[in-house]
Amino acid sequence: MLSEADAIARLCTACGLCCNGVLFADVELQAGDDVAALEKLGLPVKRLKTKTKMPQPCAAFDGCLCRHYEQRPGHCQKFECLQLIKVNRGETTTGSALTHIQQARRLAERAEQFLEELGHNRRDLPLSQRYRRCVRAAERGDWTGEQLEALAELQMSVHKLTALLQREFYP
Ligand code: SF4
Ligand code: SF4
Repeated sequence: MLSEADAIARLCTACGLCCNGVLFADVELQAGDDVAALEKLGLPVKRLKTKTKMPQPCAAFDGCLCRHYEQRPGHCQKFECLQLIKVNRGETTTGSALTHIQQARRLAERAEQFLEELGHNRRDLPLSQRYRRCVRAAERGDWTGEQLEALAELQMSVHKLTALLQREFYP
């Protein structure tokens, strides 16, 4: 069985779904997080009435790794997705976890492609938010048959992705 550090190295560097706006729309900061230090690193922080959040896709994510791993918020330090938990417990293999990661990444990329085709190309926003905006625009708009076909493909990809994330990633 892989050590916990090895599992993180193998899975997380091939994944990034908990940093890139696919699993989460933001990271909620907790007592103990140094908000000023995070801002000093150039990370955007949103102060709401009762919560403080870092929006996702995270500005610290470089497509593969966290640029500020040592200073990452407490939530990021504690979070383990179901695949990582199962690998660490010996309940699944690294190969199987990597297959789930690849499937999820493929579905997310497919959804991204349809969103861009439909003019929703703000990759700085979380996938769920872009998807909702796109569906609302479709409900308001006078869309062509081609656009409606792309929307149907998008909905199919998001539906499959959501089911996969619920089943295999959210702990
Ligand atoms: S979703 Fe899981 S495997 Fe992917 S980066 Fe996050 S903790 Fe690692
Ligand atoms: S701070 Fe690092 S670990 Fe946390 S969401 Fe951003 S990239 Fe991921």
